[in-house]
Amino acid sequence: TKRVVIIGAGIVGTNIADELLSRGWTDITVVEQGPLYMPGGSTSHAPGLVFQTTPSKTMTHFARYTVEKLQSIEKDGQNCFNQVGGLEVATTPARLEDLKRKHGYTSSWGIEARLVNAEECLKLYPHLNKDVVLGGLHIPSDGLALAARATQLLIERTRKAGVKYLESTPVTGIKQANGQVTGVTIPNGTIEADIVISCAGFWGVELGAMVGVSIPLLPLAHQYAKTTAVPSLVGRELNKQINGKNAELPILRHQDQDLYYREHGDQYGIGYYGHRPMPVKASSLGLTPKDVDEKNMPSRLEFTAEDFDPAWKETQRLLPMLQETEIADGFNGIFSFTPDGGPIVGQAPNLDGFWVAEAVWVTHSAGVARAVAEVLTTGRSQIDISECELSRFEEVQLSQSYIEETSSQNFVEIYDILHPSQPRESPRQLRTSPFYARQKELGAYFLELGGWERPFWYEANKELLNYLPPKWKPVERDAWSAQFYSPIVAVEAWKTRNAVAMFDMTSFHRFEVSGPGALDLLQRLSTADVNTKPGTITYALLLNDQGGIRSDIFISRLEENLFQIGANTATDLAYLAREARHQSKKDFVQVREITGSTCCIGLWGPRARDVINEITTDDFSNKGLPYFGVKRALISGIPVTAFRKSYVGELGWELQTTAEYGQRLWDTIFQAGKIHGLIAAGRAAFNALRLEKGYRIYGTDMNTEHNPYEAAVANGIRVSKWEDYVGKSALEHIPVKQKPSRRLRCLTVNDGRSMILGKEPVFYNGRAVGYVTSAAFGFTVRKPVAYAWLPGTLDQGASVDIEYFGRRIKATVTTEPLYDPDNKRLLA
Ligand code: FAD
Repeated sequence: TKRVVIIGAGIVGTNIADELLSRGWTDITVVEQGPLYMPGGSTSHAPGLVFQTTPSKTMTHFARYTVEKLQSIEKDGQNCFNQVGGLEVATTPARLEDLKRKHGYTSSWGIEARLVNAEECLKLYPHLNKDVVLGGLHIPSDGLALAARATQLLIERTRKAGVKYLESTPVTGIKQANGQVTGVTIPNGTIEADIVISCAGFWGVELGAMVGVSIPLLPLAHQYAKTTAVPSLVGRELNKQINGKNAELPILRHQDQDLYYREHGDQYGIGYYGHRPMPVKASSLGLTPKDVDEKNMPSRLEFTAEDFDPAWKETQRLLPMLQETEIADGFNGIFSFTPDGGPIVGQAPNLDGFWVAEAVWVTHSAGVARAVAEVLTTGRSQIDISECELSRFEEVQLSQSYIEETSSQNFVEIYDILHPSQPRESPRQLRTSPFYARQKELGAYFLELGGWERPFWYEANKELLNYLPPKWKPVERDAWSAQFYSPIVAVEAWKTRNAVAMFDMTSFHRFEVSGPGALDLLQRLSTADVNTKPGTITYALLLNDQGGIRSDIFISRLEENLFQIGANTATDLAYLAREARHQSKKDFVQVREITGSTCCIGLWGPRARDVINEITTDDFSNKGLPYFGVKRALISGIPVTAFRKSYVGELGWELQTTAEYGQRLWDTIFQAGKIHGLIAAGRAAFNALRLEKGYRIYGTDMNTEHNPYEAAVANGIRVSKWEDYVGKSALEHIPVKQKPSRRLRCLTVNDGRSMILGKEPVFYNGRAVGYVTSAAFGFTVRKPVAYAWLPGTLDQGASVDIEYFGRRIKATVTTEPLYDPDNKRLLA
């Protein structure tokens, strides 16, 4: 088996050792800079609250597995999880509403939960102030992780099975040769390894720096305090219990004031996120001493009592019983925050064999560990980890200033009620397309992704609302779904379907694959046969070894040895580039990102050809450029590559040029289009139009957990392709004639107006059976449209309910696509 070195014996490192071991890998060494009995990282002082539910399915399922696993780690008749349940209370009407949304997630992700009124909150938690609490959400399977104990038991059992542990041994360097990790350096020598997994917690930045990998996490101090004994609790039975199972009330969250609570016997523990962000540099903490103890460890800084004042006042209001206590002991404990709040997991893009699993909470630790072990041993994690990938960050997101600002902001907002579309306010304007100045002139409303400013609609189109035909008039939205939205979107959809619109497609990832080995690479990695004539576009999937979808891409053959890829994420780039590097040892191929050096306009609509014919002498007829064809052309003298395809389901092209011509291209098209009714349209309309056409978005609608048949993207597979490709043999084992057990299905909302936004649970016969992935108002079909994962047995016509803020919305499973199923518009 592979030789593995794990750096760090916290809850993450020890879990990974355990998960690898249980999958048959035995040559494992764990290197820890602190003493093993208490390594001194974040785990050593974690109070261990496990609230499982988040808007993320992945994170929730990581948490659920962590609960299961902690329950299974046992010694002396006691496991490592105290399942007291979790109670989140609302003290404001907005929070009360939001708990309903949260309850939706629990049903979507399969966690049992109940919305409770104020009275029931008091029954569950008698110490609450009845004048303050409006209601709550109770999750019976939440509870307390005994994280430090679990770590010790994991060390004990993995060590017995042969895992070697080195304590008080800092890793001081990572050895590499030819782009591959070869081992680690420690003070008295080196340890050779094929795989090094950095589980260094908030020291991750320092470990990454040893190999030139930016680890986008920020160590921040977070306040935790214990009260003196609560007089009325002193001497109660539960104090006699062993090993920290010293709580019986649910763990409590008071998110309106950034607070959480647990019992410690007759004392209370209070965690607070309301204070100023207090960033720390791990390298400034010095060496971990040999004699770490509860009060003296690197991850524990001096308590700054003045920062805790508001928390203490609010606590005494929420839990009046604590007025009889004082703060006995507090500290500022360090752990990691990241730019998007997710953990950092995966292989370094530029160094094979160097893996990280950092910025992971105790809550998700075993889940993340299992995922890493599964990817290493089988090539696929059963829970999708796309949103946790180290490679998900764009280059601009890896700068120190970006990491510091966004991670601090995540600390500030950790318990805030956040709308799914809510953009960060800063840093902004990091990446703008060459059309940006023009878009601003048109009153673009921008939302940010990956550093890009992306127009969602244009205020300039507002006056066209007056000309909207009645059946295109936007329906009124509820207050939540009306946020970060505008009725102008209806105009932009109408124009696209009936005249012509231009969409900024610049922020979509574009890569060039070139060289003598280009065809080989794409044949080997993709499901389609791309040995096509130059000038052809092919839709293809990238699969993992188990047939799970790792991306869907467009492969355009521009020349014999030059392909352009339309991809989804920076992770796609990391994957293709790594594979290219490996292949190049014998068959040269290069993968180059061209997203930012180029720009792209989607010119779409029934009158698109009228517009283009005004500004080109090249042949844009069906003969000159058939559907899924690509060619170079000149638009008013501007060199473009024209791709005959459309995400919105209308006639037209993606017109791509290099950045310096961008603004001129925009102006040229905009001017020429005026007499044909052309407008600029944004992402909100785009998203509605693509849903009507049934186009999936990778990451949102499907991911590595799904195979192409379930997601209904098997059109990306060339069945007759004889070459072997990644995932082929797994696909061959899927019984295609059989209905899959789950399917991505199209739903329409019966009342024609009730909005949903995504991630809501879907009920059939009163039982939660699936969840919504994307949703939008379908202007052409005059109904909200949703895509949802549902049991394969639910066929078209089935009547389901979607839960939205506690309300049930009737919807119907519908055949797809809703719009232009024969592609008449696309082929026009
Ligand atoms: P760590 O436990 O920090 O382990 C990393 C290890 O790597 C350390 O032992 C360190 O010594 C070692 N290491 C670092 N560099 C080197 C090197 N060069 N060589 C060798 N070894 C090295 N999470 C929850 O889920 N629920 C909670 O209620 C909760 N409350 C918290 C409260 C506070 C006050 C704090 C600070 C954190 C809390 N967390 C909570 C977060 C949680 O504690 C951490 O996310 C988690 O413990 C991280 O585990 P880890 O194994 O990744 O890191």
